[in-house]
Amino acid sequence: MIKAVFFDAIDTLFGPYPDKIGMYCRVIKKTAGFDVSPDKMKQVWDKIVINTEEKAARMMSENGDLAWDGFNQKILELLDYQGDLKTAGKKLLYEAWSNPENFVLYDDVIDTLVDLENKGIIIACVSNEKSQLNNFFVHFAIDKYFKFIMTSEEEGVEKPNPKIFKHALNRLNLEPKEAIHVGDSLISDYYGAEHLGLKAILIDRDDKFRDNKKVEKIQNLTEVLKYI
Ligand SMILES: [Mg+2]
Repeated sequence: MIKAVFFDAIDTLFGPYPDKIGMYCRVIKKTAGFDVSPDKMKQVWDKIVINTEEKAARMMSENGDLAWDGFNQKILELLDYQGDLKTAGKKLLYEAWSNPENFVLYDDVIDTLVDLENKGIIIACVSNEKSQLNNFFVHFAIDKYFKFIMTSEEEGVEKPNPKIFKHALNRLNLEPKEAIHVGDSLISDYYGAEHLGLKAILIDRDDKFRDNKKVEKIQNLTEVLKYI
């Protein structure tokens, strides 16, 4: 019997505005002071996401370094940024992902949270983010639905490493089969949670994984209720 639903945060509950590429072009201009075209940004983004996801996949059952750590630095490096990469990467990371004003809440979130709460389901967040992620939940006024917001920064371990899911289950005294995890990343969310025995659901709002028939997918968050 399902007693808890864990959600990933970014791209699951809320996402960059107007999208990641647009948000990064804007924030790079603001923090590093140069213009990037959306096309160039997309090229660089896709390249790094694939590399980072591959690295994260290799960490599934080990205790590796945090895979996403050098992400922003790498973006600036591939954009031929000439200044100090370490400092600029930190600034970019901070401004892009710590300011909730860069994000929008998806319009299916509140209905889903209310319905789950009404069914007595415990709701929590398990995210590969910094500890200030909590600010987003307050900004979007959804913090009251969440029993806790667990971040990789505080836990010292990132999805897909099953340890982070184990920590979340332990906080609630639950077995893996008593929890669902919903997220947008096939590797970090889906395979990470499934590896430990949770019911994994991929939220695929843009039908990106339409050809993948092997995973359990939903396109609207409210569909989670079907699994309760
Ligand atoms: Mg996500």
